Amino acid sequence: MISTLLLAAAPFVAFPAQGAKLPAIDHVYLAGAVAKGDTNVVVNGANVAVYRTGAWVTLIEATEGSNDVSVVSQSGEATNIWFKIAKKPVVDPNAKPAPEKVWKKLDYAKDEAKEPPTNKAPNEVTIVVDAGHGGDDTGAKSPHGFFEKDANLLVAEQLKAALLARGYNVVMTRETDVFIPLYDRPKAAHTNDADAFVSIHHNAPPYDKDPNLLRYHTVYSWNPIGEELATAINAEMAAALGDTLKSNGPMHANFAVTRNPEIPSCLVEVDFVTSPAGEEAIWNAARRRVVAEAIASGIDAWRKGPPERKEK
Ligand SMILES: [Zn+2]
Repeated sequence: MISTLLLAAAPFVAFPAQGAKLPAIDHVYLAGAVAKGDTNVVVNGANVAVYRTGAWVTLIEATEGSNDVSVVSQSGEATNIWFKIAKKPVVDPNAKPAPEKVWKKLDYAKDEAKEPPTNKAPNEVTIVVDAGHGGDDTGAKSPHGFFEKDANLLVAEQLKAALLARGYNVVMTRETDVFIPLYDRPKAAHTNDADAFVSIHHNAPPYDKDPNLLRYHTVYSWNPIGEELATAINAEMAAALGDTLKSNGPMHANFAVTRNPEIPSCLVEVDFVTSPAGEEAIWNAARRRVVAEAIASGIDAWRKGPPERKEK
């Protein structure tokens, strides 16, 4: 999940007592987990699908005070319930159209893009691997209450191992559960004179999308040097994950970690932590190895470069 100002101001809220009134909101993700085999969760009188792990999630609409939330399960207790306030963005009718795609200058960054490492050996190439979020910045949350920050670190560590095995130099932005200011992350690529920067995240739906239905992987970049890297990683992920998780990329996004003007940078959204099926896949160690090997293969393909780059 990428924190926006709207979402950052609305962290996870402990579920109130049964029947509590909700605050003024547009949509609420309600999620939780019951014992395996307890297949009957009812939210506000409507049956909610329970996944085989016991995870469930639903999207409800609410206005201030109008929604008496009631959650019951077969066992009489729906455990580990949480909800997330997801506010509808306020649209300003006088707002200017979105700016054209530009290379936003970071104060420390050079204007010139670094040459991609075509024909260099892996041991001459440095990759910065960024595990998104950390510390109090938890990122998204799964129905069983696992945090995105922990999933990101597990995949990032696996990616580090996959890259080291291929002979690359690897720099991690974090290897423990610590908070790192957002702009210190792309800066790590600059200070280490890295050839590429790859940020690892897990997704959550926007305010109006049913979290049961939304699940895919994607790779974001912003400028042309990042796009080549993102395209290569996305292709390898799509090939490795096949029918088990659809590809929704590569895509463009103006994130702090993607718009570095000098170093090819991208952000991988591995899966949806809010989806019960996504949660199950994320906490599967064998699956994480497949994901990490695919990202490493994408970096390898990018390093070798397309034929037209090699001929330059
Ligand atoms: Zn995230």
